[in-house]
Amino acid sequence: MSAKGELSARAEGGVTGARGPDAIHPVARLPEEWQAVVAALGERPYRAGQIFRAIHGRGVLEPEQMTDLSAPLRARLAESGFTAPARVAHVHRAADGTRKLVLELAGGARVECVLIPMTDAAEVDADVGAAVDDEDDAEPEGDEPRRRVTLCVSTQFGCAMGCVFCASGQAGLIRGLGAAEIVSQVLIAKQHLELGEYLRNLVFMGMGEPLHHYEETARAIRLITHPDGLNMGPRRITVSTVGLSPGIRRLGEDFAGKVGLAISLHAPDEATRGRIIPINRRYPLGELIEALRRYPLPRRRRITIEYTLIDGVNDSPEQARALVRTLRGLRVKVNLIAMNAIGASQLRAPPPARVEQFRAVLTDSGLSCFLRTRRGDDVSAACGQLALSGDLVRRRGD
Ligand code: SF4
Repeated sequence: MSAKGELSARAEGGVTGARGPDAIHPVARLPEEWQAVVAALGERPYRAGQIFRAIHGRGVLEPEQMTDLSAPLRARLAESGFTAPARVAHVHRAADGTRKLVLELAGGARVECVLIPMTDAAEVDADVGAAVDDEDDAEPEGDEPRRRVTLCVSTQFGCAMGCVFCASGQAGLIRGLGAAEIVSQVLIAKQHLELGEYLRNLVFMGMGEPLHHYEETARAIRLITHPDGLNMGPRRITVSTVGLSPGIRRLGEDFAGKVGLAISLHAPDEATRGRIIPINRRYPLGELIEALRRYPLPRRRRITIEYTLIDGVNDSPEQARALVRTLRGLRVKVNLIAMNAIGASQLRAPPPARVEQFRAVLTDSGLSCFLRTRRGDDVSAACGQLALSGDLVRRRGD
């Protein structure tokens, strides 16, 4: 798929589009859309709220298990084609507690979502997930301290952006996910929380470019933040983008800047960025920085800048200084991560001393900068490794 027309991109897999409520996957329907559906079934309006709460509040993805509904209504929902949008194919557990869930979707597509528990050693990753600063940071009520978990979800099967350091980008785009498939990752992941854990942050940082698939991403956010459902605060959600500036503007307008923003920047200048992130030629760095300046960021919030250090490509002290200049005047924090190896790629991480040198330039300039630890390396769950490369490559050849 070409980058052209990405903000209105539609694909298979239950994407919502501009259709009537009965044509929207049940898991992607908002309460007001359920109202229309239950009215058409001759049911009382309160049934709409019951069904929405069953799906999004209790995570029930099969009508037969909605035991507070009448048996005839459950049967009619099942007859209408209400099936779970995803099922767990595999769970891989890394030594550091990270769990990667491989989910099978309609048509045999497979995507991954990753549960990342926040250990003390991983606090820098908590920072990645949250784009949250200090306020309103209370833990849930209860006697026992509880462990925060960040969930990373995918929005596409493959990705059209082609970033050179990313396994998903190398595989290309197969299809976008419907909002039902995106939300199901959250509902299913909640069932895989372990004792003492709670889902605190959600990052759209898995396979795919969320703003290349804007309608379904935005609908998923509306569902996830709905008070009758998962009721996640928008400030607990971070959308990570490679820099589609029209999508950034739209996200800022639609959610009043409350949804956190992470930018995969990875280069301080147009030329370097164009080499490693092809979409930069369509949405240049200058335009991206301008979109960030205009993002309606709430007080005390910052935009997260992701910068993957690649040996000999973007890791020199001069480039660190250029990055400082590019980010001047923006409310940001920078997450540095040494590149994860992918496949047969020649690209690799810089030596640790060079990483430290780069970081020192940023911190000496007053930039807030974190060196991210790699999580889940042993299950290929770290950033840029979220492609099921064999599966994707096979499908590309279909
Ligand atoms: S880094 Fe993100 S935008 Fe770039 S190819 Fe990978 S998934 Fe797509």
